Amino acid sequence: MKVPFLDIKAQYSSIKEEVNLAVLNILENTSFILGSSVKNFENEFAAAHNINYCYGLSNGTAGNHLVLWALGIKPGDEVIIPANTFIATAWGATLCGATPVFVDCTPDTYNIDPSKIEAAISSKTKAIVAVHLYGQPADLDSLKVIADKHNLFLVEDAAQAHFAEYKGKKIGGIGIASSFSFYPGKNLGAYGEAGAAATNDPQLAAKFKMIREHGASDKYYHKVYGHNYRMEGIQGAVLGVKLKYLQEWTEKRRNAAKKYFELLKDIKSIQLPIEADYSKHVYHLFVINVKAGKRDELQRFLDKNEISTGLHYPVPLHLQECFAHLDYKKGDMPCSENISENGLSLPIYPEISDNQLQYVSEIIHQYFK
Ligand SMILES: *Cc1c(COP(=O)(O)O)cnc(C)c1O
Repeated sequence: MKVPFLDIKAQYSSIKEEVNLAVLNILENTSFILGSSVKNFENEFAAAHNINYCYGLSNGTAGNHLVLWALGIKPGDEVIIPANTFIATAWGATLCGATPVFVDCTPDTYNIDPSKIEAAISSKTKAIVAVHLYGQPADLDSLKVIADKHNLFLVEDAAQAHFAEYKGKKIGGIGIASSFSFYPGKNLGAYGEAGAAATNDPQLAAKFKMIREHGASDKYYHKVYGHNYRMEGIQGAVLGVKLKYLQEWTEKRRNAAKKYFELLKDIKSIQLPIEADYSKHVYHLFVINVKAGKRDELQRFLDKNEISTGLHYPVPLHLQECFAHLDYKKGDMPCSENISENGLSLPIYPEISDNQLQYVSEIIHQYFK
């Protein structure tokens, strides 16, 4: 049985007519950039997260950048970034000319470890970026206490966590601002590049809107430095259709995770993900920790049996070549290094069938027998 890591085609098939119509409509009225499809999506997406302002962007990386830029992060500043995340989280800081300062993750959620942040704070620190990694919210209350105490901005990178909840509240509006990605493989995926930035602060929202469009509030009158970070109309249309199904798809992801928990709980050689008591996890990824150095061998065994898996992420940020000048070394972030060496992401998506989940479990059992 084939189990792909992701099945974007299956999802498209389930909404094909509706999406095709929405895209054709954009072609007919030539609203290729921003326009009503994007505006409507922004409003619906903001409402779904109980956030006041949301702006559609060209991708999630633009969101990482725009949020810190609008907050005034500049050269000489430092920004706290988890070592265990996708590189784009750090680009937010570097594109502002600031220096990312990496902090290790916890050994159970793999999100940034609040107890390790204060040691990384200096007089230059301006912000903490909390990533809701794999679809599980970071420990936002603990982070907020630290941010408030040191007068830092708390920003959320919610690229993997649409609809996730922290203590019963949707993420994205808990920090001062947040960014989302709609990369096709994300829980809410566009059919191309797309992202968003959100905030409850009206002044910050006005800056988001200007920076997204060349620093202008009125066309050709440029108040501040900006960029072209606008979302395309076709992506707004696709996302508008897909947003209606996201709740259902999220529950399906959670059900798939529940089945994995049941099917795999007897295997002593793997540590399953945990859902923290404060969180509603949306399982963008289902990352197991494979003990005794068996990760790569298990991955090859699964691959031989037509099961595709992923590594998130094989190199923690502090050990990436592009950050060599920051002088981190192996051993600095033991938990991030552990998950980079032993983490294995199993296939998970709303369309994965019970038979496929069963099969993945059987092959993993076979490997450990
Ligand atoms: C995907 C992702 C991004 C970047 O999003 P793009 O839309 O691919 O630019 C940023 N942060 C995290 C944690 C991500 O997973």
